[in-house]
Amino acid sequence: MAKRDYYEVLGVQKNASKDEIKKEYRKLAIKYHPDKNPGDKEAEEKFKEATEAYEVLADDKKRQTYDQFGFAGIEGMAGGGSHDYTSVFRDFEDIFGDFSGFFDSFFGGSGTRRKKQSTRGRRGADLRYDVKIAFTDAAFGTKVDVSFVRNESCTTCGGTGADKGSKRKLCPGCGGSGQVRRSSGFFSIATTCPSCNGEGEIIERPCTDCSGRGLVRKNKKIKVTIPVGIENGKRIHIPEQGDGGLNGGPPGDLYVFVHVLPHKYFERNNNDVYCMIPISMTQAALGAEIYITTLDDKKVKLKIPAGTQNGKVLRLRNEGIPYLHYSNRKGDMYITIRVVVPERLDSKQHKLLKELSALLSEEESPEPIPLSELK
Ligand SMILES: [Zn+2]
Ligand SMILES: [Zn+2]
Repeated sequence: MAKRDYYEVLGVQKNASKDEIKKEYRKLAIKYHPDKNPGDKEAEEKFKEATEAYEVLADDKKRQTYDQFGFAGIEGMAGGGSHDYTSVFRDFEDIFGDFSGFFDSFFGGSGTRRKKQSTRGRRGADLRYDVKIAFTDAAFGTKVDVSFVRNESCTTCGGTGADKGSKRKLCPGCGGSGQVRRSSGFFSIATTCPSCNGEGEIIERPCTDCSGRGLVRKNKKIKVTIPVGIENGKRIHIPEQGDGGLNGGPPGDLYVFVHVLPHKYFERNNNDVYCMIPISMTQAALGAEIYITTLDDKKVKLKIPAGTQNGKVLRLRNEGIPYLHYSNRKGDMYITIRVVVPERLDSKQHKLLKELSALLSEEESPEPIPLSELK
């Protein structure tokens, strides 16, 4: 089944406020909740679909990326493609109050799930880096230096956050469930345990180098190869260069998003390039051979046929942008001819053109060109 647009899923406008998004999601979640629709696969799918949409649209950063790059952008973000609902769980407590127990059973229990994650090792977050490159570098490929800050596993404690000889132990505040229940009127509300932040475990003595986080912030510089012919908006996936994992978990990935800067003379469509070249009216009338500078800075001869009209498009084969996997094959270069009429004439030029004018049978009341011929 094709993925539906997140705004469409929640039935809100593109400019919907956070409150509207929350309100619409709450409606859908209650309607399609698995506990209310036992055994109904369709309802379950609808519920998951709405939850995924909410997870993205309720998060400013993810929403912005989704608006700009669609599903492809979201896949590159932390927790994006993996459908990690932990952030939504936190909101459930807020949205559903005591009903959060529903979700524990549906997704395998948020309390036990968190605890499992923290002891098993958690994968580091994926990172995004945006790079701007020149038009010609995108055409022929290049290498760029990418400097960014990332969280690396603390080498002192091996990413556990615990000081030497100290261990992680069950949180006395919640007994390891990661949640505490508070009574409020008729309801008892489950909230994240403040002692362990929902981890279910606390550290006896935190590691002094990372203050118990298990991660330290480090500057990182790597060289990234930009492949030949890359298009604007494409991303490069670099495995294991994201944030470090916790407790021996694997590192996340780095995604480099490529923004191609415009060129002064060239435009691109797939692997073809387009430009506009001026010629004089006599070159257009008599025909000429001119030299064109190509994208890779070669001079290439272009034959202008006699009688070339303004706006005529000429083609130079194989002078466009190389194809990604066969770099000896390129697109073509299309040249639009602009016939330039002289704005000032000296007396000799004026006289010669007068003579020419007399020889040309010039129409005093020209008939319009049919619009169909203009294309
Ligand atoms: Zn440490
Ligand atoms: Zn706790």
